[in-house]
Amino acid sequence: MARHLITSAIPYINGIKHLGNLVGSQLPADLFARFQRARGHEVLFLCATDEHGTPAELAAAKAGQPVAEFCAEMHAIQADIANRFRLSFDHFGRSSSPENHKLTQHFAGRLNDAGLIREVSEKQVYSNADGRFLPDRYIEGTCPNCGYDKARGDQCENCTKQLDPTDLIEPRSAISGSTDLEVRETKHLYLCQSGMRDQLNAWIDTKSDWPILTTSIARKWLNDGDGLQDRGITRDLDWGIPVKQGDADWPGMEGKVFYVWFDAPIEYIACAGEWSAANEGADWERWWRTDKGADNVRYTQFMGKDNVPFHTLSFPATILGSGEDWKLVDYIKSFNYLNYDGGQFSTSQGRGVFMDQALEILPADYWRWWLLSHAPESSDSEFTWENFQASVNKDLADVLGNFVSRITKFCRSKFGETVPEAGTFGPEEEALIATLTTRIRAYEGHMEAMEVRKSANELRAIWVAGNEYLQSAAPWSTFKEDPDRAAAQVRLALNLIRLYAVLSEPFIPDASASMLASMQTTDTSWPDDVADALQSLKPGHAFTVPDVLFAKITDEQREDWQERFSGVRD
Ligand SMILES: [Zn+2]
Repeated sequence: MARHLITSAIPYINGIKHLGNLVGSQLPADLFARFQRARGHEVLFLCATDEHGTPAELAAAKAGQPVAEFCAEMHAIQADIANRFRLSFDHFGRSSSPENHKLTQHFAGRLNDAGLIREVSEKQVYSNADGRFLPDRYIEGTCPNCGYDKARGDQCENCTKQLDPTDLIEPRSAISGSTDLEVRETKHLYLCQSGMRDQLNAWIDTKSDWPILTTSIARKWLNDGDGLQDRGITRDLDWGIPVKQGDADWPGMEGKVFYVWFDAPIEYIACAGEWSAANEGADWERWWRTDKGADNVRYTQFMGKDNVPFHTLSFPATILGSGEDWKLVDYIKSFNYLNYDGGQFSTSQGRGVFMDQALEILPADYWRWWLLSHAPESSDSEFTWENFQASVNKDLADVLGNFVSRITKFCRSKFGETVPEAGTFGPEEEALIATLTTRIRAYEGHMEAMEVRKSANELRAIWVAGNEYLQSAAPWSTFKEDPDRAAAQVRLALNLIRLYAVLSEPFIPDASASMLASMQTTDTSWPDDVADALQSLKPGHAFTVPDVLFAKITDEQREDWQERFSGVRD
C-alpha cells in the first residue's frame, strides 16, 4: 500500500469560485484522490481557504462585516459547495487557523535563525483618511505615460507600463478616493531567496519526471536577468498573522502581519494539523515530517499554471531554508485555463457559471464529467453550452445510462429482479473480457499518470464496449430461441453495471453510488482480474431497476441556460 499526500491550490476567500477555478485544481485533485483510495492506497487529501490580504479586508468592508466574521461565513459557504460537488477532502481548512499562525511564525523564526531574512526600509504610501498604508494596486491616478486617469500604482491597464505609486499624477486612494496621501518610511522583512538559488536549482535538477513546461518556468525565474529575487514577507495590515519569530516578538515589526503569499502555502502543512485536531488519533506529522514517517509519502500538488512559480520556488525556499525535515513536493500537475463561451471566466466581472449556480441547474456528476473530460491540459479549453449538452446526452445518457436501464429492465421482464442462473459464457463474452482487460489496464495507467482527458476517453470506451456487446449479443432476440444463452448474457451485463460503478466512481461518484445501490452490493473491489470481477453478483442475487441515471438536456433547457448566463452575475 502506497501513501499519497494530495493538495489542491487553495481558493481565495472572497467569493464563490467559477467552473474554471474548479477544473484547474480541486476537481482533478479529487479525481486522483478517489482513484488512489479505490486502489486501496492510503490518502490524505487537503484543501483550505486562503483568507488573508487586502482583497479579503475590502470585501468584508463592502459586505459591512468584520473581516474575521466575513471569512468564517465565506469559508462555510465554500465548504458546503465543495461538499455538494463531492470534493472528497479529508480536511478543508483555513489559512487563518491557529495552526497556521503558529507554523508560519515558526518558519519565519527558523529562516531568520538561518540568516535568510533581512530587514528593508521602504517608502510606502499612507492614506490619512483610510488610516492605513495602501498596497500599490490600491492607489489610482493619471498615468504619466499615456494620460489614462484610472492607472493603478503598480501598472497602467491602458498602456501596460509598469509604474511606482509615486509616478502617478494626482494619486488617490482606490478605497476611499481620498487624495490626502503621504509617503512614509516603513520597515519590512525580506526572504533572501537569491541566496538559495543554487540549492533550488539543484532540487529542480532532480525533477526529470516533471513536464518541461513546469521546470522551464522554474528555471526562467531562477536564472533570467539577475536571477531569483528576494521577496518581502510582511505587510502593514491589520488582518493576517502577526509577525513573530516562533513564540517571540520581533522587535521593530510590531503591528505588522505576514504577507499572504508567505503564509498561504504553509497552510498546506497547517491544514494537516487542523485535520489531526479534528480527528482523534490522526497523526499529521507522519504525512509531513520525513523524520517522522513521511519519507515514504508521495506528495502531489494540483494547480493552475499561474501558480507554478510560486510552488516550484517560493514555498520550497521556505521549506528548504528552515533546515528541518519537511516533505517537499514530488510531482506538480498544472493546468491551462478553461474559457467560457467565446471569452474568459471572470470572477471580478461575474462572467461564466459559478459553482453554486451550476448545482442549481444540474447535479454535480453532469459537471464533473464534462469538466474532467474537457480538462485544459495541453492547452486552454472552452466551455460552450452546445458541447456540454452533446457530451452529457451522448456519454452519460445514451451510453452509460441507457446501458444500465436497458439491461435491468429486460432482466426484470424475462427473469425477474434477480441475477439469472442458466447458461455459460462463450467466445463473445471471452472477447469482451479481453477487450475490457486491455482498456482497464490503460485506464489505470492514465489515471496513475494524472492524464485526465485520456482517462476520461478510456472510461468512455469501456462504457461503449459494454453497449456494443449488448447490441451484438441482443439477449432480447436470443431469448426466443435459447433462453439459457440469454440468461448468461444478462448475468454478464448486470455484473458490468457493478464494474462500471467501481471504475467510474472517481469521475461520477453519485451515479456510481446509485448503480451499486440498485445492484444491492457493497462490493467495490477493483477489477484486477476482469473475469473474476464479472462474477461478483452471483446467480439469484437480487437487484432493483434504478431510476433514470442521467436525464438528457433538452434544446429548450440549453437555450434557457445560455440566455441566463450570457450576462454578468447580479
Ligand atoms: Zn498608461
